[in-house]
Amino acid sequence: MNKEFELLRKEIAVCQKCPLAEGRTNVVFGEGPFSSKIVCIGEGPGRDEDIKARPFVGRSGQLLDKILVEFGFSREENVFIGNIVKCRPPDNRAPKPLERAACIPFLLKQIELIQPKIIILLGATALNGLVDPKLKITKVRGNWIEWNGCLAMPTFHPAAILRNPNLKKESREDFGKVVEKYRELVNPNHKAEYC
Ligand code: SF4
Repeated sequence: MNKEFELLRKEIAVCQKCPLAEGRTNVVFGEGPFSSKIVCIGEGPGRDEDIKARPFVGRSGQLLDKILVEFGFSREENVFIGNIVKCRPPDNRAPKPLERAACIPFLLKQIELIQPKIIILLGATALNGLVDPKLKITKVRGNWIEWNGCLAMPTFHPAAILRNPNLKKESREDFGKVVEKYRELVNPNHKAEYC
């Protein structure tokens, strides 16, 4: 395990940099192999994630795991999963600008250390927090964005797909593009059920 990454984990575990520290049960650092060439980014921990100290373990997380597996990926093998903020916003509201600003440097440090080739931005908060606050997920999803030396693919958050199953088709198209790029940049023999 990378020493700097583990030091960062310890620093984040006791972070009090924003008001979200008050209501959390656990800090959710993120999970997945340090060697991952894909980093998936969501919004922030919900109730289940806060209790279990793990990202994407509720209904949205189960859907994300299912989508990843369909495309030959998993958090056990080749994807690191994180969030824009690492502590649960109350009532599952979106993180406020000040909270995002306080927490995003941790995510940037994680990405700098992991050095992924591909970043999957799950939903508007990830897109706006990491890339550009003015971009609309519905407009740019499915299109590669060059970002800090890697490629970012904006797509729908699994929670949005649960609310509107019609988004499944576009989500699959976006993950199909991720598979193509992964074969080009990382592993030409990558196997996936859907493409
Ligand atoms: S959300 Fe981020 S910045 Fe705020 S207390 Fe938690 S770890 Fe610290």
